[in-house]
Amino acid sequence: MSDSAESLLARDWRSSILLYSEAVRATVKNVALKNTQVLAAFFYEQMLQDQAAKLFLSHETVHGRLIPSMQNWINQLFSVDVQADFVALVELQKKVGEVHARIDLPVHLVLHGARTIKNKFSDLLEELDGVCVEHRKEAFKLVSDSLDIAMEVMSRAYASNSDRKSRAEESYRLFSAVHNAAAEKGRQRSALLDWENQLMFDLAVGTAVSNLLTIKKSDFGLWFIHKGLHAFDNLSEVKIIMESIERIDEMMPNLEDVADRIELLKKIRSEARNIQINVDALFDKYNELEAGRDELTRLLSRKYLSVVLSKEVNYARKRGIAFALIVIDLDFFKRINDTYGHEAGDAVLQQFSELLSNRSRAGDYVFRLGGEEFLILLVDVNKETAIRVAKQINQKIREEKFFIPSGDLLKVTASLGVTLFDGHPDYSKLLSRADKALYQAKEKGRDQVVYLES
Ligand code: GH3
Ligand code: MG
Ligand code: MG
Repeated sequence: MSDSAESLLARDWRSSILLYSEAVRATVKNVALKNTQVLAAFFYEQMLQDQAAKLFLSHETVHGRLIPSMQNWINQLFSVDVQADFVALVELQKKVGEVHARIDLPVHLVLHGARTIKNKFSDLLEELDGVCVEHRKEAFKLVSDSLDIAMEVMSRAYASNSDRKSRAEESYRLFSAVHNAAAEKGRQRSALLDWENQLMFDLAVGTAVSNLLTIKKSDFGLWFIHKGLHAFDNLSEVKIIMESIERIDEMMPNLEDVADRIELLKKIRSEARNIQINVDALFDKYNELEAGRDELTRLLSRKYLSVVLSKEVNYARKRGIAFALIVIDLDFFKRINDTYGHEAGDAVLQQFSELLSNRSRAGDYVFRLGGEEFLILLVDVNKETAIRVAKQINQKIREEKFFIPSGDLLKVTASLGVTLFDGHPDYSKLLSRADKALYQAKEKGRDQVVYLES
């Protein structure tokens, strides 16, 4: 959601609140503040009756964590006055929507929750003494309006986040599917040639122009439109290829005119060459950069962190197993650059990455989060194993001799933060816990492992 969309929503929200009298706003605010506990508890009571919702809540300490944050949300939502910070209010709904997207909470559950609150609020308003029907009605309308706007903002944030998420997922899927880019490149090269040959042959044997296979419908075209476009996402070659494809298919009907045929075929051939050059370039780039590997270390780049985390969270929740995160940061790395130069630093990072890869199993994931910070996701482990692995890595780093271009051998240490998946569907909690553990390891003097319980 863009900033301007947010400020528009905030303005909308403010003006819809202004439609109500101060007395009506006060009633809603009082009822909400007096009943936040009741409303929040009722909300979760209802949600826990829903099988689908249960899946998202069963692991949660509903009473310890969710009810308090729900209370906070209710308080903020229903006690707005004209001076309220509507931008912050929009921001809050947006945050909630983002969390929902991260944990894949279905929208219908959220809407169901909103309806639950609306109904309960209506009951609470009914119970008010000394309030006329008109006032009650207005108050209920205000409650509905507030919930509706909140849901609208949440859904917008949800939609844009889950779109982004699915795009990243798709690209990850292709990344892992096309691990042999060299073979795929060869396959698509010959698919394109096959189409050209077919075209020439069909024309030679007098096939009706309307029966010629367009490039879009060819194996190559189908691959490119359905897979290549996504796999190579924003690379400039994609647009060039697509334009050539369009131009070729636009020329095809004109092959009817035998006099122009040779000229047209020359043009088609040159477009096809253009496609081929750009497809080659795509694969080369894909190998280098877009394969999701960090250029310097060949580790997974941060780009796929959220995809892998969501995938592993879902997997672990379904099977009731755990996984661990180890966040690793080299100690005093700046000194290496300062003393021996940036190239030496790069060499250390490369050797360090190899060490991490060698210490992890085939199912584990090793990411370079950026700079001299790394993350290992250990699949299917318990707390003891995770700590043991982290300590081994810590020790291996301490023992390793790092080679730098000058020929010197360097010693380095690293600090490690470890945490275990605890069933919470929002992986951002897990990441911040691992970060916190790393921070503590640094604080305690570096070159050590800190484990943090949820
Ligand atoms: P600490 O123990 O607190 O982590 O200290 P530190 O010096 O490791 O941490 P700091 O964040 O101060 O410095 C990190 C340094 O890492 C700074 C930056 O120049 C260097 N760095 C980040 N990315 C690269 C890289 O790709 N190559 C090289 N050679 N250096 C890098
Ligand atoms: Mg560091
Ligand atoms: Mg760092």
